[in-house]
Amino acid sequence: MRVFVFSTRPYDRDALEKANGGQHELTFSPVSLDEQTAALAKGYEAVCLFVNDRADVGTLAKLAEGGVRMIAQRSTGFNNIDLEAAHRHGIKAFRVGYYSPYAVAEHAVALLQTLNRRTHRAFNRVRENNFLLDGLVGRDIHGRTVGILGTGKIGTVFARIMKGFGCTLLGYDVAPNPQCLELGVSYVPVEELAARADILSLHLPLTPETHHIINADVLNRTKPGVFLINTSRGKLIDTDALIDALRTGHIGAVGLDVYEEEESLFFRDFSQDYVRDDRFTRLLSFPSVLVTAHQAFLTEEALATIARTTLQNLSDFAENRDNENLLPPR
Ligand code: NAD
Repeated sequence: MRVFVFSTRPYDRDALEKANGGQHELTFSPVSLDEQTAALAKGYEAVCLFVNDRADVGTLAKLAEGGVRMIAQRSTGFNNIDLEAAHRHGIKAFRVGYYSPYAVAEHAVALLQTLNRRTHRAFNRVRENNFLLDGLVGRDIHGRTVGILGTGKIGTVFARIMKGFGCTLLGYDVAPNPQCLELGVSYVPVEELAARADILSLHLPLTPETHHIINADVLNRTKPGVFLINTSRGKLIDTDALIDALRTGHIGAVGLDVYEEEESLFFRDFSQDYVRDDRFTRLLSFPSVLVTAHQAFLTEEALATIARTTLQNLSDFAENRDNENLLPPR
């Protein structure tokens, strides 16, 4: 099949070429998909997309017009695709339902402990021959209460790691997970979880129900000094409410791998330019905020599995086979 691969970075290309073995004709482009760029895929049967490629109503109409019949999303989250519109245009969408929940959960722990033990500051300080420890005081994670919002694949791995640290585990999910119950997770409403947790970690998909689940009301209920970690999707957090809470000093630290308006920033280089997003620069002005640019998935194991599954999805579609990665038409 002829496949146009949007938002390609060198690591994507390496992994996809290795997994392909000449089976499909892949055209790689660093350009991200939107209504203007959809024309690039004219004459291709499939497009391969990543998290910030926008497959909305207008874009899907253009893709369909150009002959695209399949979307191979190379991530677990698929909130960037309007599934109803895709269905109307006769476009099937597949995702990578499972790759490495370890990659993302381990990155959440990396953000947590970097902020807690200030290793990012220590790194710079020691390189400047400053061996003072002032301002580097952290906290034991042992004995803390961790609130996990979303106890699916990633949330469960995160729960297991936090149990290893000796934490009390609280969970919030529409469907309590038997593996988490076995680990000792107590399921509570989101308001109670916010009020009791020392550390909050988000592992929910972005849906209309979870949009801004962390809002002013929830933030007001949190303990002073709470740590908030988000490796899921930026729009789970109301950024304005978060900035207000940071401004009062109520929040202890915030580790973000995702940001509400990341589409216009992440996976690009602005080092010779400036960032035209005042809310983002405001966030970065707080020393208690650490941002990584949507890299939680980025391990060798995850990239290889994402590529293998994406190629399998393409082959299954080409041979008219559905599989468990086919997304429902809504
Ligand atoms: P999953 O489907 O295994 O788990 C999601 C959990 O959320 C499920 O247990 C589900 O019951 C629960 N849930 C769904 N809607 C809910 C609601 N309205 N209220 C309460 N609970 C709800 O997904 P996963 O593999 O653990 O991934 C979670 C999210 O992580 C993805 O949707 C994606 O957005 C994000 N993610 C981020 C990266 C990254 O690189 N930063 C990589 C992979 C995934």
